This record gives sequence, C-alpha cells and structure tokens, in this order.
Amino acid sequence: MDYEGFFQSEIDTIRDEGRYRIFAELERHRGRFPHATRYTDEGTDEVTVWCSNDYLGMGQHPDVLKAMHDTLDQCGAGAGGTRNISGTNHHHVLLERELADLHGKEAALLFTSGYVSNWAALGTLAAKLPNCVVLSDAGNHASMIEGIRHSRAECLKFKHNDPEDLDRLLAGVAPGRPKLVAFESVYSMDGDIAPIAEILDVCEKHGAMSYIDEVHAVGLYGPRGGGIAEREGLMDRITVIEGTLGKAFGVMGGYIAASAALCDFVRSFASGFIFTTALPPALAAGATASIRHLKASQMERARHQERVAKVRKRLDLMGIPHLDNPSHIIPVMVGDPHKCKRISDWLLENHGIYVQPINYPTVPKGTERLRITPSPVHSDGDCDKLLHALSDIWSQCELARRAVAA
Ligand SMILES: *Cc1c(COP(=O)(O)O)cnc(C)c1O
Repeated sequence: MDYEGFFQSEIDTIRDEGRYRIFAELERHRGRFPHATRYTDEGTDEVTVWCSNDYLGMGQHPDVLKAMHDTLDQCGAGAGGTRNISGTNHHHVLLERELADLHGKEAALLFTSGYVSNWAALGTLAAKLPNCVVLSDAGNHASMIEGIRHSRAECLKFKHNDPEDLDRLLAGVAPGRPKLVAFESVYSMDGDIAPIAEILDVCEKHGAMSYIDEVHAVGLYGPRGGGIAEREGLMDRITVIEGTLGKAFGVMGGYIAASAALCDFVRSFASGFIFTTALPPALAAGATASIRHLKASQMERARHQERVAKVRKRLDLMGIPHLDNPSHIIPVMVGDPHKCKRISDWLLENHGIYVQPINYPTVPKGTERLRITPSPVHSDGDCDKLLHALSDIWSQCELARRAVAA
C-alpha cells in the first residue's frame, strides 16, 4: 500500500470540503488577555482572541499564578509517577477535597483532562455494571461517546434535551437492569442548557444513575461556581458530576465528583486513571487556587454575563444572525464551511480579530458558525472593534441579516 499517498488523499478530501483545520499559532501574554501575538510565515502580529474557553481569564489570575510558581519551586516539575506508584502529591489530594466540596459530594477524582475523565469514568462504569444500558443525549461530546463505545455496553441515544424521549426509552428497558443516563448541562456549540430537573425526574422514576458533564458551566454558574446544577439546587440529585479545570478555571485537568464508593470504584478499575502519570503538582495547586477564588468571588461571573449580554444586544441591533440561548456562548451562524473560513481569515488579516471557524464534524453540515466567547477581560474597545468588523464583513459579503426589531 502507498501509505503516504493514502494520508495525503484523505487530507486533500477534507481540504476540498473546507474543513481542513489550520491552527492559529499564538503566544498569550499574562496581564494582557485576551490579546496575544500570532506567529505566521511572514512574521508576527497582535490579535484579540474571541474564541477562548478560558472564559473568565483565570489563566492569568495572580492567585493562580502565585500558587503555581510557589508549588513549582516547592515540589519541582512533574508528579514523578502514576497516582498509585509515588505520584500522589499532597496538592492532588487538596484539589480533590476542594472539588468534592464544590459539588457537595463525598469525594472527587482527578484525571489528566476533562476528555480523559469522561472517557475513563463512563467507560468503566458502563463496562463494569453488569448488563448496563447507557442512555446518551444525541448532542453529547466526543469524549462521552468514545467512553460509552469503549465500554461495549448497549447504548440508546435519546433526542437532544428531551426528557420525554428519555422516559420512553427507559420504559422499554427491563426494570432490574443497571441504567446510566449521560448528558451535559451547557452544550458547547449551541449554548443551550439541559432541562436538568426534568431529566432527573425521569432518572429517578426509572431508578437510573445520572451523569452530567458540566465542563462549560463549572466556575461560570452557581453562587460558588459549581455549575448549572448548583444554580438550580440539583447537585445532590445527580449521581456523577464531571468537569474540567481547563476552561473557566484556566488551568488543566478533569474530574468527577460523586459518592465515596463510586469514586473509589473508578479509582480502582479505570485504566485511564490508573496507568498514566499524575498531573504536575503545580497544575493541581493552580486549579485549587482558581476554584477557591471563584467560590468566593462573584465579580468575574457578573462581568462575564454583562459582556455576553452586551455583545448579543449589539449583534441584534445590527441584524447579525446568532443562535439565541440562555448561556455565555454566542454562535454567529454562517451555514457554509468555505464562507465561515473566509470570514474568519478576513477578520484575522484585516482587524486582528481571531475567531476560529467551527465546521463539520464539530457541528452538523450547514450549521457552520463563528463561536464567539466574550469574557470579563474583553474591554469596551475590544467589543466595538469586533462588532464593527463583523458589520463590515456582513455588508461586504452581502450575508443575510435578520430583521432588526424596532
Ligand atoms: C472540552 C470538553 C471536554 C473535555 O475537557 P478537556 O479538559 O478540554 O479535555 C469534555 N466535555 C465537553 C462538553 C467539552 O466541551
């Protein structure tokens, strides 16, 4: 076989379809988020990042940086092993306690990323619970889908955010069989939010376990940043709450929070937890500092919501189509992969505005979009520039506008 030829022709196919991924090469500067230096073949330029998942700018927070500097100096660079073989640092244990407290659970378990936490926890639970059936929301993230697939358990997909469909499917499963319902709170591409209470009602009616991915909500919602479930007073009804330390908390890592027995079970059986080097202690300490700060401070969350409302309102005034949703994610809909890429390139080249185009398979074909994520560190001036640039490109390309409400 012509291996190289195969690789190249597969890449050519996705390039023709307008969904070849080109990474922006950035250098973020502490103290100057969301501004960054972009490296190209021609040299460098300054850009404003409008698509980061460091939603609150915690990646440059002084408390987080101090904790990381101190711990690096105190403990050195790496953890030195897997959690089982010399790698459990005091800072991992402190972080797990902080996470359990954040979600009002008995215990928490740390993983190297949110992806790994979903893959390993769902994979292990669904594989080890005898004859388990998983009910998975149709909009679930790749990490959950891969974990469920890896478990080889039977999987039934329920309609996105549809408790009635879930109820119908669960009614068809033998009552004594273990059932695991996996869903998210804030869906990252449309920014819609699950009807968590209704889904939990259905889970409880059928004796099913519930597993929620709050990756796009932890730090951002709830009086202590515990997520949508905290905001709605539902954390104690959920079996497993999963989150990331890499988005709103601004560092890296993933976790589950649940009962002591469940966490101990995953700790004892999940290959993706056991056979990998523990996170560097400095990361754990930085994440702990970030969580602690956001448990007490409302300022970042308030300003985040204010910035989002401001950008959304001005898009409405200009008639630029975006998906309405109750979260902080603003999907500006383009609906064509080539156009989406061209708009993104044009914003970057002409205005130093960086919004990555989101194309298939991340979103369905025909719903290509620019996913804008305002943050507390975007200034009024940054917002003005973004909105003027978008209005300009919408006119130049004669893209459809919505009727503007009077
Ligand atoms: C980003 C993401 C993850 C993975 O989290 P990481 O910490 O980035 O690995 C899991 N679930 C959802 C819904 C995500 O968007």
